[in-house]
Amino acid sequence: MESQLNILEQMQLLDNKKGRYLALQKELPKQLNEINEQVEQATVNLLAGETEKAEINKQQRALESDIKTHQDQIRKYSGQLSEVKTNKEYKALNSEIAYLKEKISEIESRLLELMEKENEAKAKIEELKQNLQAAEANKRDKEGDLKAQIDALDAQIQATLAERNEMAVKLPQALLKRYANLIRHKDNLAVAYSHDGSCGGCGFVIRQQMRIELQLRNKIVYCENCGRILMERQREETTE
Ligand SMILES: [Zn+2]
Repeated sequence: MESQLNILEQMQLLDNKKGRYLALQKELPKQLNEINEQVEQATVNLLAGETEKAEINKQQRALESDIKTHQDQIRKYSGQLSEVKTNKEYKALNSEIAYLKEKISEIESRLLELMEKENEAKAKIEELKQNLQAAEANKRDKEGDLKAQIDALDAQIQATLAERNEMAVKLPQALLKRYANLIRHKDNLAVAYSHDGSCGGCGFVIRQQMRIELQLRNKIVYCENCGRILMERQREETTE
């Protein structure tokens, strides 16, 4: 009986190990995705920042071209001033020129605002570039290791199962079947230890009589509530 109890404990340890590998099989690809998504997001953000700056530059070029048009017009009017015959015409041209100069000065103050916006956009782009570099560095650091871990998991799970199955053949069929059912239906936990007089699997209080049986270790004790195999944790005294 003692050897059966030992085998059950060992098998549970291996099933715990398998459980950890299975959890990693879910978790690690998520981490890998996250790393890639961070790079993608940082790339999208940088692109948006650059588009914003390009939009500002486009407005700047349009306004500069407007200034140039107005200046050409002013030059043309100024040339005409010497040729006009009447005072009225002279006044009209001068007021046109004054109007265009005013326009130019309005445009110049808009250009100043845009220059400020452009500087902000440049600073933002610098920040976004750094974010992207950080995300890429993070990917370089972790991606290979994560992939290697993910690739190794299948073999690790198979090896753990093989080790467990080697032990399983030493158990009587009925007991093995019961163990396997518990693993399948009770959160991968077939062997629960008593914990402060309660089942470590479900928390149900263990009767006094059963606690004595647990200490004797001459029969297999099942939790009356969850059906798990109950054991008392063996400490240093199990050295053989
Ligand atoms: Zn229980």
